Amino acid sequence: MNGKAGPRTAGDGSTRTRLDRGRGALGPALELVHTGRAPTRAVLTAELGVTRATAGAVAAELEALGLIRVDARPGAAAGSQGRPSHRLEVADDGPVALAAQVHADGFRAALVGLGGRIVATAPGCETVDADPAKVLGSVVDAGAELLRETGRRCVGAGLAVPSAVAEPEGLALNPLHLAWPAGSPVREIFAERVRAAGIDGPAFAANDVNLAALAEHRHGAGRGARDLLCVATGHRGVGGALVLDGRLHTGSSGLALEVGHLTVNPEGRPCHCGSRGCLDVEADPLAFLTAAGRTPGPEVSLLQQSNELIRDESADPAVRTAIEALIDRLGLGLAGLVNILNPDRIILGGLHRALLDADPDRLRAVVADRSLWGRSGGVPILACTLDHNSLVGAAELAWQPVLDDPLGALTG
Ligand SMILES: [Zn+2]
Repeated sequence: MNGKAGPRTAGDGSTRTRLDRGRGALGPALELVHTGRAPTRAVLTAELGVTRATAGAVAAELEALGLIRVDARPGAAAGSQGRPSHRLEVADDGPVALAAQVHADGFRAALVGLGGRIVATAPGCETVDADPAKVLGSVVDAGAELLRETGRRCVGAGLAVPSAVAEPEGLALNPLHLAWPAGSPVREIFAERVRAAGIDGPAFAANDVNLAALAEHRHGAGRGARDLLCVATGHRGVGGALVLDGRLHTGSSGLALEVGHLTVNPEGRPCHCGSRGCLDVEADPLAFLTAAGRTPGPEVSLLQQSNELIRDESADPAVRTAIEALIDRLGLGLAGLVNILNPDRIILGGLHRALLDADPDRLRAVVADRSLWGRSGGVPILACTLDHNSLVGAAELAWQPVLDDPLGALTG
């Protein structure tokens, strides 16, 4: 877990000179390789708008930093006009970020490399203590153990929590399904635990659906979208996020896109926010199980129980009815968001992804019928594609300083 870089590969004088000109391109170049948009040096050259020599120096420097691998084998990949170009990949044995996620049914730690690749995970725990310091201590210890086992260098740590996280203090304002005190200083606690475990690098914390959206935008179903709306329910409650031009829209203090409290059923069940019939209580796994006439069991997570019912829907007409009821409520919420935000793509995660898969036509029809912009153009509604997208997104937070300035972040 030593944060210092090994001896830098000294380039020859001409490489240095070219790199001096290209240093500002290191971050953009790394981001292009990280997000899979520059598979070859020829594409990198074109995307950066620099000379081939500068792109070559930039790729060589990122390789010397241990971040990417440049494969120069002839015929490895075709460049422009069919000319073979060096293939660029993230390094297999490069640094990692420690990612942690806490949710209503447990917590999990993982190591995530560039490219959103999960390198190692620790088995999740299934109970969450009411004291955030205990939980965050355990999850950081699990991550530290993974770092010891793999011997990988760590660039920093990121935490995903099922709560709005207020900035700039990093307070979990409404961790309702965790029994944590409202306003818990989760980022500070997490950062202390990370430091105490001897892990180098900065520590970050953010809302889990925000992080899922960020990960999907960079590596999954959101790639290429300019105004990406993500709505998801993992375990309890419903979250939303918006990625604008590649950056999370967080609002003035980190609290934007609290979509869970849109009213979708005015006569519906009471919500903890004081209102009634919010998405939060009308379109999450508990609402689904209740609508299907099931009493949730304690054995597996509510999401897993819901997903199993949806997969097996033919067995019971009550399940079909529950699927349709939840699709209609979700669609109503999405239609309102489409009118306000005018996204160019919507991605759905957790139970909402399973509902989309179960009846995509019904969901798209509800959104189209109930929204101005949904009707005219049709907003694509897709399923999230990454496993553990909140964990990958937590790692993105820790990777961001490296993506902004690879040389500065890794060599101090
Ligand atoms: Zn509410």
